[in-house]
Amino acid sequence: MKPAAPLHPIARLPEEWRDALAQRGERAFAAKQIFNWIHRHGVVDPAAMTNVSARLRAALAEEGLGSIAEIVHVHRSADGTRKLVVRLKDGATIETVLLPAVSGPGARPEPEIDADAAAAYDDEDEEDDPTTEEAFRGKTRVTQCISTQVGCAMGCVFCASGVAGWKRHLGPEEIVAQILLGRALLDEGEALRNVVFMGMGEPLHNYDGTARALRLLTHPDGIALSTRRVTVSTSGLVPEIARLGRDFNGQIALAISLHAADDESRSALMPINKKYPLAELLAALKAYPMQRRRRITIEYTLVSGKNDDVAEAQKLARLLRGMPVKINLIPMNPIEASTLGPPDMARVFAFQKALVGSGYSCFIRRRRGDDVSAACGQLVLLGAKPKVKAFRNSAS
Ligand code: SAH
Ligand code: SF4
Repeated sequence: MKPAAPLHPIARLPEEWRDALAQRGERAFAAKQIFNWIHRHGVVDPAAMTNVSARLRAALAEEGLGSIAEIVHVHRSADGTRKLVVRLKDGATIETVLLPAVSGPGARPEPEIDADAAAAYDDEDEEDDPTTEEAFRGKTRVTQCISTQVGCAMGCVFCASGVAGWKRHLGPEEIVAQILLGRALLDEGEALRNVVFMGMGEPLHNYDGTARALRLLTHPDGIALSTRRVTVSTSGLVPEIARLGRDFNGQIALAISLHAADDESRSALMPINKKYPLAELLAALKAYPMQRRRRITIEYTLVSGKNDDVAEAQKLARLLRGMPVKINLIPMNPIEASTLGPPDMARVFAFQKALVGSGYSCFIRRRRGDDVSAACGQLVLLGAKPKVKAFRNSAS
């Protein structure tokens, strides 16, 4: 077996800091101070950790604590979305997106279109925890979308990352670094509330990196995200869905990229379906230890001529019958590597209508950040210029 990569200091939890410091003969209280500097204040340079002794600061620098990622571009879209291109130590670039909630007049041009990124991942029927919610009063709530791999091995035919292929996993420190960098770029009056693992890569293929990042992001002494405001999106890795449910007691919200209601069409869009067909995937979802009043988000990318017929919507309605789900329809964002594209909006609405008629909560995810190529599946590799070809949707 390949030995596990050594843990980067940024990926240490407070108790691991205590152990690491004890080995150096340092006092335990510095553990919380260092964890605080990194995760609460976003300070990774030991030289700036003013309440830490000079000797320890030097030792931390020697150990490699310091910056591991830098922002090379910020593309700001007209709708407030910001795409950050982040360069890692080995030169690989990844992307992360800040999506401020849309508020005010005109925010929801059509009631059935969910224009609000945060709301799209909220469980709107869940009671908010007053202590965590207080921090967001009067603020613009921001959802950040993060990457977990450079490229992706799953090969979904409509996805830029899938077509590009897998390069490597991100370390947990690289996953968390995206949040530290993103948080530092928030505008006045904005607050990070939701994190979605929906950028480049399949989070559950990088299970260890993802799980540790989840522990770091939700630790109360650090970034302190509420576990129910963190959503992991997966193409359906069945054993890892069970593992996530066990390891986090069902507290992490789940989004499933379903995209089809039968094995034949799903396998044509997503090769992973051949390994874990629908029956197994649905059994894993039914076994997920759901928290009370929570729902699984079903993502359904509508691809013209592949999965967008009303008959498919009816099949989907039957397939999901009785399950606690809400459905997000995403008209496919065109990618350069494929001739596939979205259906026209009339078909999208007809698909939605069939699901709503069957009693489902079903939203159409409005494209956000389209003009900077920050929409789903458009997170491209290696900092190349956005590979989005001009495409006019008949209704846009
Ligand atoms: N690998 C994970 C998470 C990243 S992809 C997953 O597949 O769930 C995040 C979402 O974007 C998925 O639902 C994915 O199917 C969708 N997506 C990928 N490419 C897309 C495209 N070109 N247009 C619209 N949605 C896309
Ligand atoms: Fe990977 Fe998700 Fe893209 Fe599929 S949709 S190739 S799983 S990133």
